[in-house]
Amino acid sequence: MSDETVFVIIGASGDLASRLLLPALGELLVAQPERRVHLVGTGRSESSDAQWRKTVRRAFGTADAESALTGSIVSTPYIRADASTASGLRTILHALPEVDDGRVVLYFAVPPQVAASACRALKPKDLPPGTILALEKPFGDEEASARELNEVLRALVPERQVFRVDHFLGRSTVLNLLGVRFANRFVEPAWSAEHIAAITVRFDESLGLEGRAGYYDRAGALVDMIQSHLLQVLAILTMTPPATLGDADVRDATAAALRATHVWEDNAVRFSHRARYTAGTIDGRDLPDYAAEPGVDPSRQTETLAQATFEVRTDRWAGVPITLRSGKAIGDAVTEIVVRFRPVRHLPAGFTGAEEPAVLRFSLGPDRLSLSINVNGGSDPFALHRATLEAELGVGAQRAYVDVLAALLDGDPTLSVRGDAAEECWRILQPIRDAWARGDVPLEEYPAGSAGPADWDPDR
Ligand code: NDP
Repeated sequence: MSDETVFVIIGASGDLASRLLLPALGELLVAQPERRVHLVGTGRSESSDAQWRKTVRRAFGTADAESALTGSIVSTPYIRADASTASGLRTILHALPEVDDGRVVLYFAVPPQVAASACRALKPKDLPPGTILALEKPFGDEEASARELNEVLRALVPERQVFRVDHFLGRSTVLNLLGVRFANRFVEPAWSAEHIAAITVRFDESLGLEGRAGYYDRAGALVDMIQSHLLQVLAILTMTPPATLGDADVRDATAAALRATHVWEDNAVRFSHRARYTAGTIDGRDLPDYAAEPGVDPSRQTETLAQATFEVRTDRWAGVPITLRSGKAIGDAVTEIVVRFRPVRHLPAGFTGAEEPAVLRFSLGPDRLSLSINVNGGSDPFALHRATLEAELGVGAQRAYVDVLAALLDGDPTLSVRGDAAEECWRILQPIRDAWARGDVPLEEYPAGSAGPADWDPDR
């Protein structure tokens, strides 16, 4: 039996392919040289097998990865075709290398509307058995279009063969949540509204638009980050412990958490915020006003910073505010999950100093876990003070795509977003999008390089 995979990147010349997918594939193949991959590039642009191989070599980058190119990569055909048409897709599918019992992965690294048109144009009978369809976010642009896209996909292949890629699910910090929660007896009993007061998931970055106005100005921070990545993190933080780490158990549990998630007090006007950056300086770099960036249409009122608070309405979590926030052009950008515990029910009289509730932090990149607790001792043996236990969790952002690609080549959908979860994420945000569209939530401003509007406090 062959263990070769035909990995087809539709959109081979794109930013995602060259900046994230190919370097991650190179890293994966260096670590796992036993894999055998036919790496097929496609696009509408003129190119050749040799040029595509050159692109792959450049993206693989390191000398080690060069050995992957000669060892694990069996072939690098380039197929010129328009993937949004039935005839273009037939051209691609007919030209694929033949492998006995191998797996074909069609990775749509193309704009979402092209991916959706391609899926509509595909016919189940044209797909080799077991074909995996991998799609990048956004999955639809609201609940109804996500549902419609899911129906199209379901008619093509079984759900387990659809990979809605959310590379956050491959981030080591996010995966580490599973180990910390489920592999330590003392954690789960404390992991509920009874002991936790609030959770914040914050993904601020110092980068501005970086020339991606075409995509970002139509998405904004709410859709780009909260709708996809941060709601997945919320689901992993709050899901009930699964029986196994198999895809059915994990994805059932995360989907159930998302189904129970709603805007705090159902009040999107009060519990959501939006802002966009004005000109400023970050790390000595001058950033122009977002509204003046090439390709931005200021009348779209796109936010570059979004924050909203949610509640997971289950017996376990009701009453715990979970705030998700993400922004661009933030000075001293913080990327972390903060779990704030409740105060002790009774502090024995005799301690001096104030008891401060415990705080558990997972920092994302560099991945670090820290637990701040009260300890006593020193010159006054009953004086409370703070001690922080810290642990490095290891690798950073680039790994995310490595783990996602490994799962994809193995045909294991655990790290991909199931169709129902994708629909739920749109459902959860709809009240906020409606409130923003009505103008009920003002679009605030913050200078690039600042921490965002001064009166927003995601940790309140
Ligand atoms: P780009 O615009 O950089 O690349 C798009 C690619 O698609 C090009 O290679 C283009 O090549 C190809 N393409 C466009 N139309 C067709 C078509 N009809 N048939 C075949 N190929 C086509 O986009 P990105 O790489 O930035 O993004 C791709 C997807 O990945 C999007 O869904 C995006 O949301 C998602 N994504 C991107 C991230 C990033 O950092 N870039 C991060 C996370 C997700 P050609 O002109 O030769 O056809």
